[in-house]
Amino acid sequence: MSTGAFPITRTQAPKAKPADDSLAFGKVLTDHMFLMNYDEGRGWHSPRIEPYGPLSLDPATSVLHYGQAIFDGLKAFRGEDGRIRLFRADRHAERLNRSARIMSMPEMPVDLVRQSFDALVGVDHDWVPRKAGTSLYLRPTVIATDVMLGVHPAHSYLYFLILSPVGSYYKEGVKPVRILASDRHVRAVKGGTGEAKTAANYAQSLSGQQDAAAQGYTQVLYLDAVERKWLDEVGTMNIMVRIGDEVITPPLAGTILDGVTRNSTIQLMRDWGLKVTERPISIEEVMAAGEAGTLKEMWGTGTAAVVSPVGTLGYKGRDVLINGGETGELTRRLYDAVVGIQYGRTNDPHGWTSLVPVAG
Ligand SMILES: *Cc1c(COP(=O)(O)O)cnc(C)c1O
Repeated sequence: MSTGAFPITRTQAPKAKPADDSLAFGKVLTDHMFLMNYDEGRGWHSPRIEPYGPLSLDPATSVLHYGQAIFDGLKAFRGEDGRIRLFRADRHAERLNRSARIMSMPEMPVDLVRQSFDALVGVDHDWVPRKAGTSLYLRPTVIATDVMLGVHPAHSYLYFLILSPVGSYYKEGVKPVRILASDRHVRAVKGGTGEAKTAANYAQSLSGQQDAAAQGYTQVLYLDAVERKWLDEVGTMNIMVRIGDEVITPPLAGTILDGVTRNSTIQLMRDWGLKVTERPISIEEVMAAGEAGTLKEMWGTGTAAVVSPVGTLGYKGRDVLINGGETGELTRRLYDAVVGIQYGRTNDPHGWTSLVPVAG
């Protein structure tokens, strides 16, 4: 199916676009959305673009009760050349399917998901903001739509894609955060849903986040659920630490999300000849390195921020200050490299970006 093949119903009431420097995250949605249905026996069908608007759901719709819901998040960037690029769209589409498998939901043809990204961004291309640091966020989502209160994997689903112009994550420059390694909250267990991007993981992360905030920290650093010892993730980002000249990040071993930014930054560091080790790392090792002065940098990775440096790490009443509370040189270098590729300012040796075809 070519992207031109999707039926498009254009809005009769285009919204006023906000000024680029007033954009926050996810508060403004564009004029159109992409929809597609799944029914058992029929598969995915009826892909279409419609005016953005509310969904109508029966109160007994299964997603509202049992939470079969997955999503992903990626961005489109307008380069200085005016062209619009998606960053690692294939990998995001594939991850949506991995999340689907974990949540007993039907997979989608990756090509079709890719085409939905291109088609909708193409229709709403004028919504891709122009100011440096801004982007258009894509939120593909799948929900179970059976109308029934019995507990079993649904037989019908809705895929929808919505778009939101977003401002720069770092309006006042990259700013290190204070994080708290929690000995109370956990986020995932092996055999659970930690490797899926699913609504439930987010719902259950809110109390830990509130707890950290009440103690004066920005985010929670989650430790493993069994021994409460090994680093897992930070908030909804993957975590990396630099001890001496080695970068260490927890392995993809069943509890953490396979972040696209994690993967991209590991690749870049290896391209640069740096030593990156994927292995379990304990909170005691990190605190000891912090106290000994060998913990040089620590940062989270994710689509929203690219990298988010950790300035202070707290654990059981101890705080360590990392790199004097400033953004480290490698963190900064990774940020500049990823952003350079995303906006088409530097070359893209791994072919991570794809141009969005814009009609006219
Ligand atoms: C989305 C997400 C990440 C970051 O993944 P990216 O693909 O880099 O955006 C990390 N951890 C969790 C739990 C997430 O949901």
